[in-house]
Amino acid sequence: MVSRVIPVESFDLVIFGGTGDLARRKILPGLFRRYRAGQMGAEARIIGAARSEMESAAYREFVRAAVDEFHPATAGDAAHIDGFLARIEYVTLDARGETGWSDLAALLRDDVVRAFYFSVGPALFGDLAERLHTHQIASPDCRIVVEKPFGRDMQTARALNRTLAQHFEETQIYRIDHYLGKETVQNLMAIRFGNMLFEPLWNSQYVDHIQITVAEQVGVGGRGDYYDRAGAMRDMLQNHMMQLLCLIAMEPPAKFAPDAVRDEKLKVIRALDPVAREDVVRGQYEGTGDKNSDRIEVGNRDSTTESFVAMRARISNWRWAATPFYLRTGKRLRDRASEIAVVFKDAPHSIFGAKSGHHRNILTIKLQPNEGIELGVTIKEPGPGGMRLVDVPLDMTFAEALGPEEADFPDAYERLIMDVIRGNQTLFMRGDEVEAAWGWVDPIIAEWSETGEPPLPYATGSSGPDDALMLMHRDGRRWREIRA
Ligand code: NAP
Repeated sequence: MVSRVIPVESFDLVIFGGTGDLARRKILPGLFRRYRAGQMGAEARIIGAARSEMESAAYREFVRAAVDEFHPATAGDAAHIDGFLARIEYVTLDARGETGWSDLAALLRDDVVRAFYFSVGPALFGDLAERLHTHQIASPDCRIVVEKPFGRDMQTARALNRTLAQHFEETQIYRIDHYLGKETVQNLMAIRFGNMLFEPLWNSQYVDHIQITVAEQVGVGGRGDYYDRAGAMRDMLQNHMMQLLCLIAMEPPAKFAPDAVRDEKLKVIRALDPVAREDVVRGQYEGTGDKNSDRIEVGNRDSTTESFVAMRARISNWRWAATPFYLRTGKRLRDRASEIAVVFKDAPHSIFGAKSGHHRNILTIKLQPNEGIELGVTIKEPGPGGMRLVDVPLDMTFAEALGPEEADFPDAYERLIMDVIRGNQTLFMRGDEVEAAWGWVDPIIAEWSETGEPPLPYATGSSGPDDALMLMHRDGRRWREIRA
């Protein structure tokens, strides 16, 4: 297959927080990949901005090192790297003061798309927004990109939305959830709405239940301070997992356009029942006994922050009223694997008799580590000896199905940044969606803090607390094995 890379128009992309961890690990290497793929127009320019005093030449070396470290596969590609670096500038600037703003204004061009990536803590969003206006840098069609966490509850998310709305229209605000930029997540929509095969079965009549798992092997590592204030519910479930839930459960939008898709996602969140106490399990991985272990970094030894959540969610609408959604996410689990499994009901009657065993179709959308889609189907075991049934996967691992070149698709960040430049908000969260998602999880978090119950301990390398297994066992179901 021939790759179709459409160059995007010329643009000025300013990365506030251009020296930070996210810029170094994701944004800059991602932009380099898009440059290398021929997707950046000749007039594209990237401007890093932060308080650190640095000349543009030094910043280019910073960018070169970031690409080398976080994109080793392309490191040493001197011609491309030099071409990319030639588009990079740096401005020393303070979001909270006046330093650097006139330098930035002088650098920006009038006739190109302007995008401002707020890769700084949310406490600075208001300062940046205000100064972009007072220095007349914000053009009427400029875009801003904001990162997670978007608030820590509905109230703070609402306040943040209000702050941004004072300076920008909703159509200018791109709230990133990088899960939405994953190839498979978009493929989920293609599978659902591009095929006749699945949609007629996509409801309570045929789907027994749906499991969404985001399992990590790593602990909180160096992010202990941040994580201790967030926990699995705020860090993973309220945003990434709820977005997956929305895409799986939403009605077909009339068209693949930003508000059409986001309206349908919002309807799903609004149809979610409040979660009963017995439908949530909260866990924390046990320390290793080593005084340098992660556990200590989750605040301290007495931290009550959860590193694991499992829950049963119910959507009260015609399509899903009788189909439970089971969600679980955790750190320090046995494997690193993220997937959505749509588990279909048993056939109403087995013509092959009880001896043929219990068989079910499962559609698995794999997000990590290898993106792909697998459909489990039941067939006859080959060979003589009667009708023995066996389940086999129809595997559509993209790298195998499309060839390595086609499957070398952009990382989520690359795709999303290019969508910002193109002005396409489909894969970004709207303000009301984010608030509604907080509205659903806030009462759960509030109950945890009211009861003061600590999370249940679980061993590193396990599947989480036993109570999470019980959450499904009591419904006569079980979690799929977490496997990479
Ligand atoms: P970070 O490493 O602490 O970087 C913060 C950046 O902001 C630095 O470039 C810093 O540079 C700059 N900065 C701080 N105060 C400033 C000011 N007053 N004026 C101008 N620049 C200022 O943080 P990060 O990890 O990159 O995270 C950035 C944002 O992305 C946060 O909202 C975070 O929650 C979010 N995020 C990060 C990740 C990740 O993997 N890192 C993942 C998801 C979301 P100077 O000190 O030189 O000013």
